[in-house]
Amino acid sequence: MRRKQIISVCRHLYKKGLLVSSEGNVSAKIGSSKILITPSGKRKGFLTDLVVVSLGEKRTPPGASVEYPLHREIYRVRSDVRCVIHAHPPFAIACSLAGVSLRRPFLAETSIAFGTIPTLPYRTPSTVALAKGLGRSIRNHSAVVLGKHGAVTVGATLEEALDRMEQLEQVAKIACLAQLMGRLPWLNKKELKALEKIRQRL
Ligand SMILES: [Zn+2]
Repeated sequence: MRRKQIISVCRHLYKKGLLVSSEGNVSAKIGSSKILITPSGKRKGFLTDLVVVSLGEKRTPPGASVEYPLHREIYRVRSDVRCVIHAHPPFAIACSLAGVSLRRPFLAETSIAFGTIPTLPYRTPSTVALAKGLGRSIRNHSAVVLGKHGAVTVGATLEEALDRMEQLEQVAKIACLAQLMGRLPWLNKKELKALEKIRQRL
């Protein structure tokens, strides 16, 4: 079941333009010590199979996504996380390239859903440096932009992680459009305080 769900999430990410070709990777926990993860170098819109990896593996096993260290580090620091999505959403990447931060909220829905969305400085893909940097950031966030690279979202379910990736890209798209029109006004302290109260009640 999980296998089919991951393949279907990958197809959805591809159809939505959140990744193309062999970009991105998705994983889900099986029990407490293994994950199902997408294979390396395969087109994500047309996957037929996945790889099972023990989280005890420090190095990326043959055939598994080269971003395995990133997934492993997230599961290590977040025991509540069962699913991880790494995609290359174009508007989120464009924001990171243009220096438009998503950390400071400018939409009520995003503020309630995420609190803040940090952007990590660029690190070489598939490296331990990227995994460690993300591990520090993901402790307190459910969505993180990887500077000049992509984004990562996490969740207790695949649906939750996917929903967060779509929301992240939507807010990045709005930020890009507002910037193009010349203005991106952030929510003020009073507005954020009221939204934080709603967020804490959820
Ligand atoms: Zn990537």
